[in-house]
Amino acid sequence: MGRQFFVGGNFKMNGSIKAIKDIINNLNNAKIDPNVEVVISPPAIYLLLAREHLRKEIEVAAQNVFDRPDGAFTGEISVAQLQDSGITWAILGHSERRTILQEDNSFVASKTKAALDGGLGVILCCGESLDQRESGTTVEVVTNQLKAVAEQVKDWSKIVVAYEPIWAIGTGKVATTEQAQEVHAAIREWLKKEVSPEASANTRILYGGSVNDKNCKELAKQPDIDGFLVGGASLKPAFVDIINSKV
Ligand code: PGA
Repeated sequence: MGRQFFVGGNFKMNGSIKAIKDIINNLNNAKIDPNVEVVISPPAIYLLLAREHLRKEIEVAAQNVFDRPDGAFTGEISVAQLQDSGITWAILGHSERRTILQEDNSFVASKTKAALDGGLGVILCCGESLDQRESGTTVEVVTNQLKAVAEQVKDWSKIVVAYEPIWAIGTGKVATTEQAQEVHAAIREWLKKEVSPEASANTRILYGGSVNDKNCKELAKQPDIDGFLVGGASLKPAFVDIINSKV
């Protein structure tokens, strides 16, 4: 069996009760390719609202989770609390958290391990800055981010990797299909050597960074692109066209 196409919607810190309900209504009424795994990720305060109103075959992801069990950690949310609320995925290592909130590779890895140990799926983000791309270190940067996780996690069956070049996020500058495919293939090769041939064959590798309903079809044709992590466009009705980019 091939890798099931996967589309995630990362709402970031956007939305209101009304706006999130509108997005959910749109998704609930849309004709969605049944072969695609769809996960949406509203801000933490709207996770329960989303889970309550959303059609069951679409799953919900938190945009973060803490790596310790319940206790005295003001402002944090535990893996058990997400599980208790029917939230089955977490997005970890997003570049906005790495840069603005200074999360380093080992913290991202520790959170990934905690999430997986607690039964969540993880959308693990990686990606290079423009400077890093221009200095030719893209693959090194990305594989270093993944290596930190591989040091703590052997079973990658519930990890979906999202390759998101920082220079393409929210900028309207999408990577070319060749640029994306090249890095995706390098990640798959790295998985083969450093994790296992099974992880290489089975791990979904998503592309993220200015994906929209216009550019998704071409990107989706690339052999190593198994779906998308969508930011801005996931807030719009066109998200449905991105979900259906293979049909
Ligand atoms: P974008 O964001 O689609 O708005 O570029 C993608 C992401 O950050 O996940």
